[in-house]
Amino acid sequence: MRLALAEAVAAGGRGEIPVGAVVLGPSGEVLAAAGNDRESAADPTAHAEVLALRRAAALRGQWRLSGCTLVVTLEPCTMCAGASVLARVDRIVYGAVDEKAGAVGSLWDVVRDRRLNHRPEVVMGVLAGECSAVLKEFFATRRIR
Ligand SMILES: [Zn+2]
Repeated sequence: MRLALAEAVAAGGRGEIPVGAVVLGPSGEVLAAAGNDRESAADPTAHAEVLALRRAAALRGQWRLSGCTLVVTLEPCTMCAGASVLARVDRIVYGAVDEKAGAVGSLWDVVRDRRLNHRPEVVMGVLAGECSAVLKEFFATRRIR
């Protein structure tokens, strides 16, 4: 989560909403890390989670990320929750809760829908205070400017 937080801060520095994600391999090794890149890439799907999942899959040479863990500073949206299920990650670990758009327990619980064959384990609230502080700080600074 510390690495994901560093990615979030770096994204904020680029003018992106500061969200960072990391994909860990089966032994806990870092396969990929990414920050939100929606503005720079002019891509509505360039969320940190999607970018990290893509990079991890490219590194492994397969789309299936069984045994892997997605670590992200903010609760994933519907797209990223869906991408995690499609990637077959074993676990999703997130920091801050997103009450406005969260799809891993808040507005929806996409990844634990019993109708799905694959349901990743969820660990929430890891370094939640720090993860939400990065977001709050970003938006506070933007309002002043
Ligand atoms: Zn997302």
